[in-house]
Amino acid sequence: MCDTYGQYLTMKAEIDAAMQEVIKSTRFIKSGKVLEFENELSNYLQTNVISCGNGTDALQIAFMALGLQPGDEVITTPFTFIATVEVLALLGLKPVFADVNPSTFNLDEKEVEKVVTSKTKAILPVHLFGQCTHLEPMLDLAEKYNLFVVEDACQALGTDYIFNDGTQKKAGTVGHIGCNSFFPSKNLGAFGDGGAVFTNDEKLATVIRSIANHGMKAKYQYERVGVNSRLDSIQAAVLSVKLKYFEKHIKARQKAAAWYDEQMKGIEEIQLPQRVNYSTHTFHQYTIQTSRRNELQQFLKGRGIPAMVYYPGVIHLQEAYQYLGHKKGDFPVSEQLTETVLSLPMHTELTGEQLEYITSNIKEFFKGRN
Ligand SMILES: *Cc1c(COP(=O)(O)O)cnc(C)c1O
Repeated sequence: MCDTYGQYLTMKAEIDAAMQEVIKSTRFIKSGKVLEFENELSNYLQTNVISCGNGTDALQIAFMALGLQPGDEVITTPFTFIATVEVLALLGLKPVFADVNPSTFNLDEKEVEKVVTSKTKAILPVHLFGQCTHLEPMLDLAEKYNLFVVEDACQALGTDYIFNDGTQKKAGTVGHIGCNSFFPSKNLGAFGDGGAVFTNDEKLATVIRSIANHGMKAKYQYERVGVNSRLDSIQAAVLSVKLKYFEKHIKARQKAAAWYDEQMKGIEEIQLPQRVNYSTHTFHQYTIQTSRRNELQQFLKGRGIPAMVYYPGVIHLQEAYQYLGHKKGDFPVSEQLTETVLSLPMHTELTGEQLEYITSNIKEFFKGRN
């Protein structure tokens, strides 16, 4: 699914040197490479970047920074990774689900507006698989109902959101706060855990930085309850090297996606990932839909081709979230997607030969049974 080691080999000398530099400097925490990397990413994204321990922490810190009260409602998607919803529950906020668009997998603005109440304080769109949620309608809703928009951009670093007027902003920099993960398999992956919070708002940036650092104001003075969540310098050194090649890596994913599209467009039983005019796609995952999903996955496995189901379950039906009182059928589009989605191998090191092998086997599967 992912070739982290193969990608490392293409940058080995630089990464090794950068890691050695950190070890020699002994500037491991909140100094040296961490600050350098924050600056570099800030330049790339054109926003404030506060690094932290992982993407889940980024979400938690973001919601702590907004100063919401227990019981306040946050609208999000049930078709996402658990972390999105988990942090809301941990903070005593109420996750309120809205169903997704069946073609983009992302929150449907019409469904979002239906569940807005007087307690709603924020919308938390997840840019699933590397393509942005339709954000302008979310910003309009936020304006209309006085809500925050927090983007879970953990799968979409590098994606461009394209506004109606043609202007663009990077995923995670459109709403009030954006959250990112540097988990090894993410678009920009570290050699361990890492995360970052983005915001254009200077005041929020100060609050976020303080929360991630034990709520500290000045040395040994604490103005709020915070957490300890840090990106370490070794990870920052790796990320700093990888950021130099980030655009090239995104292009490699897009090239692999274009191959998949071209080879599979004639297969009626497959729905290819939809592209939209309001976002580019960085293909954190290349996810197809087919009613013969399980059969296809097994067939590919037999040919040595990994293919994964993201996600096999919706959040509102998970045991831990039964307290929200949902039942099967509440979010039919999301539930249906868990039966039909299949993500194919997608990374920066896929060779033409590998891609050819994957798609010829997929073609064979569908031809064989028709
Ligand atoms: C990966 C991911 C997270 C969490 O990131 P971690 O770094 O693993 O904590 C949150 N939301 C989404 C959508 C993700 O894909």
